[in-house]
Formats: sequence, structure tokens, C-alpha cells
Amino acid sequence: MSVPKIKTLKIDGSTGEGGGQIIRTALSLSMLTGIPIEITNIRAGRAKSGLMRQHLVCVQAAQQISNASVTGAHLGSTALSFTPNSIKSGDYSFDIGSAGSTTLVLQTLLPALLFTNTDSSAQSTVTIRGGTHNPLAPTSDFLQLAFVPALAKLGMQVDVQLIKAGFAPIGGGEITATIMPFMRRADTAPFELTERGKLTNIELVASIVNLDYDICTRELASAKSVLIEAGINEAIITTQSNKLQGIGEGNSCYAVVTYQMVDSQSSHSEVFTLLGAKRTSAEKMGNRLAGLVKRYVFKTDALVDEYLTDQLLLPLALAGGGEFTARVISQHAETQAWLIEQFLSVDIKFEQIAENKTLVRVID
Ligand code: ATP
Repeated sequence: MSVPKIKTLKIDGSTGEGGGQIIRTALSLSMLTGIPIEITNIRAGRAKSGLMRQHLVCVQAAQQISNASVTGAHLGSTALSFTPNSIKSGDYSFDIGSAGSTTLVLQTLLPALLFTNTDSSAQSTVTIRGGTHNPLAPTSDFLQLAFVPALAKLGMQVDVQLIKAGFAPIGGGEITATIMPFMRRADTAPFELTERGKLTNIELVASIVNLDYDICTRELASAKSVLIEAGINEAIITTQSNKLQGIGEGNSCYAVVTYQMVDSQSSHSEVFTLLGAKRTSAEKMGNRLAGLVKRYVFKTDALVDEYLTDQLLLPLALAGGGEFTARVISQHAETQAWLIEQFLSVDIKFEQIAENKTLVRVID
């Protein structure tokens, strides 16, 4: 008996945000559903369109774990086709060969490796070399402290370790992730992150690679004083400085802001990150970091901030749906919702319920 061919899904990469996220999400969903894809106008919304190194490694890595047939996988390519086969769990290693974002490559592979099969021994490990602290991408800290804990609420078990830090322009960083196969449990509580309880903790962290340690101290002091001045109780603010291992030079500072849920049974953390830049003083960095925290604490009572909003949509669609409140719906989030609905029979709805607060519902 011949097996009917699944119809190829044609995706216009210039839709909405028109960036790299369309390629990564399309690859994830193609691997998961088995639907072959053809993407045209790749990253047409960006000044330099086509596949950059990070996107190319996403394609190659997805090809490897799903034994896919691929055309158009080369640097600068503006069109590609991808026909997946079955997904294999295992131990994988990928090298971006530039400071391209390791976390975005990992996010491309995660859904496939989570849903590889239901054999609980089929855990996968993925090591990726490249950038770990990139502008316009989640840092490894964001993954560890915001994204992975949110996945855990869905029953998805992923562990991410930073082995070496990699900053632009040199990169040379490394992350390792361990991914357990996901099994949807009947007793898992529905995913609901809608109402804030008490603000319990603000952790300020500053890190350097091969730069003066004093930068951290100054960033933290500046961020802390702005937050106290804004009326935040000093007792809930903690600070920490880190010297990270890595080649090249780099500095980042971030804040982990944690709210208890109204039922006091669990909590939710958001991570706000800044990367140091030449000619930006440590004091200015601290000031800006505090500004991001203040915007989240005082200007909205939504639980999920901009970046986690677009990153949560796919895991939610795969894990049976749920709802959360978002401070803002970016074009990334809208594009992500559109693309997910091309592959899966889910409805993703955005309903603005107050200023700076939108109810996001992913309905299975
Ligand atoms: P391009 O758009 O140039 O192709 P890209 O491949 O890096 O770039 P985008 O389509 O811009 O990808 O997607 C970037 C992703 O990084 C989004 O999921 C966004 O939520 C996330 N992101 C951006 N900045 C941050 C940040 N500061 N913290 C956490 N996540 C971030």
C-alpha cells in the first residue's frame, strides 16, 4: 500500500515580523508534524535578508535530528525546502562558528526532542557552541531562569547549563541542554498565569568576561539605588556579581523579578537583560536595567513580559493550551501565533483587557 504524501506547506518568510523566528518555528513544527515546508522570502523584513550562520545551523541541526531532505541550506539563501523524517533522540553537538545565538538554535530543536517518543529513557543532550549573550535573543540566563521554569509548569523537563560565556563579536560560548521526553499527564494543572500575587524578590546579577570586576559592582549599585528610590522594599532586593569563563570580553546585567501567584502555591519569574556596550557607563546600564524592572512592576499587572510571550506560544500549543496575561503583544508574538495556526489545530487569541495587559489564550 502506498503511503499518501503529506501536502507541502508554503510559507512566506516576509509575513509579519519577517525575521529569523519564522524559519526556526517552521522547522520545529515541520519536524513535529511531519509536514514538509517550503519557505520563500527568508528574513525579507531584515536589512540583510537570507540565512545567516545561526539560521543555517538551525536548518542543519534540524536536518540531522530528523534525517530530513533539504534544499537551499546555504548562507544568504532566501528560499529553502525541508522534508523531515522521523526524529531521533540522542547526544548532539553543533557549532555555529560565529557569535550567533546558541539559545535560538536550542529553541528550534527543543520541541522535536521533547516529543521524540514516549520512551522515558530516550533523553537527549544537545551541546551548542557560539554566542550565549546576544543582543535581540534570549541569553542563557533568560533560558535558565524564565523559559525553562515556564516549561516546567507545562510538565516539560529541560535543563540548560552555561559551560562558557560567548559574547559578540567573538562568540566561543557553549551551552548544554538535557531534554527529557514529554509525557502529558492527566493530572497536570491547566497552565494559567493570569493574576499577580505579591512581589517577593528582585535579584540583580551582573557578569563579566575578561573585564574589570568593578563594572559589576557599579551596575548593581546603580540599579539597586534606582529601585529603592522608586519605592521598592530594599529587603527583597539581592545582588550578585559573577566572573564568567570565556574568550573575548563581555558584560551583561540582568534582573530576575519574581511574583507569587495569588494562590501562593507557585511563583512566576521574568528576566530582564542588558548587554554592556563600549561608551555606555556601568551606571547607565544599572539605571536602564532598573527602568526595565520598574516598567514591569509599576506600569502593568500582567505576569508575562514581551519576550517570554512569543516564546511561550509554541510550548503551550503543544502541551494542550492554557492562558496568561501579557504586558505587550509584539509583532513577533503575532507572527508566531499566525505560523503555529498554519500547522496545528489550535486557536491563539489576544484580548486586550486593560492598558498594558492582554489576555493570551491558546485553545487546543
Ligand atoms: P532576525 O530577526 O535578524 O532574523 P533572529 O533570528 O535573531 O533575528 P528574531 O526573529 O528577531 O530572530 O527572534 C528573536 C527572539 O529572541 C524572539 O523570540 C524574542 O522573544 C527573543 N528575544 C529578543 N530579545 C530578548 C531579550 N532581551 N530577552 C529574552 N528574549 C529575547
